[in-house]
Amino acid sequence: AAKRDGRGCARIFNRSMALLLEQRENLRRSLRTALERGELYLEYQPLVRPHSSVVGFEALLRWRHPEIGIIPPSVFIPIAEADGLMDEIGRWVLEEACRQATTWPSALTVAVNLSPVQFLSGSLTDTVAQIVDSVGIRAERLELEITETVLLEQTTDNLDTLNTLNVLGIRISLDDFGTHYSSLGYLKNFPFDSLKIDQYFVDELETDWKSQTIVRSIIGLAHGLGISVTAEGVETRGQAQWLIEHDCDRLQGHFLGRPMGGEATLDFIKRTPLEPVLAWEDEIGRS
Ligand code: C2E
Ligand code: MG
Ligand code: MG
Ligand code: MG
Repeated sequence: AAKRDGRGCARIFNRSMALLLEQRENLRRSLRTALERGELYLEYQPLVRPHSSVVGFEALLRWRHPEIGIIPPSVFIPIAEADGLMDEIGRWVLEEACRQATTWPSALTVAVNLSPVQFLSGSLTDTVAQIVDSVGIRAERLELEITETVLLEQTTDNLDTLNTLNVLGIRISLDDFGTHYSSLGYLKNFPFDSLKIDQYFVDELETDWKSQTIVRSIIGLAHGLGISVTAEGVETRGQAQWLIEHDCDRLQGHFLGRPMGGEATLDFIKRTPLEPVLAWEDEIGRS
């Protein structure tokens, strides 16, 4: 019986594997035309500075698939990367995000995530410079978010690329800090303006002394090096309060605002120049 069960499991496993592969193949095929069909779009999530207000937004990519519905980037970006589509998609994201930002008040920044694949073409700095120029946005308003995977590969080339972007005035953020192979050497050698503490450490800030110790240390380390700190995935008032008390420079997460479409972002900006943010901050101050 055990043997038969085992074979049963293997059969089910194979069938679901086959289904998964087929789904992936279907996604891969429709992703090739998604860009031209206008199925890709961006949402924008607010970045908030304590004692001030919304200081910018992070652009987050979405795919509105005609049959499946909205597919998150964690599902389709790896496919795009494996399929050689991410360079073109990444260029579209940059341009679209910069264009959108020109409709916002000029003090607001826009952050764009870069795929490691975009570093491979060797033309990233040219592409970025050309987009900034043609869209007509100040380079200082653009922030590029990279993960440590970029730093692992082709280190000297990628260092050159980041330095060139930095000279252009574009800001560089190290995303998901602490979850990969965090090497302190990166902080010494690469020109980061800001470091984003991953949600993994923010989640248990209210109860876990280890998370608190790690976040406190990251903030101290970054500030010592002249790098600002953004906390990701802030979901509760308690987390926000803790982070503000510990000198975190920017907060991002559902407690501050969810990712929104372009129109909703404009409404958010109109509705929220100062008041709501200050309102919750006042509440924190009083509590
Ligand atoms: P990320 O850059 O670390 O972005 C933060 C992710 O956390 C986003 O997920 C965002 O929606 C989510 N998030 C924000 N606040 C909260 C919160 O309070 N709670 C929870 N549970 N989640 C929160 P999303 O949009 O699904 O993106 C996932 C990842 O996909 C991004 O992580 C980024 O690495 C990648 N990505 C998104 N857009 C792009 C893009 O245009 N290009 C590239 N290369 N990667 C992108
Ligand atoms: Mg990011
Ligand atoms: Mg992140
Ligand atoms: Mg993350």
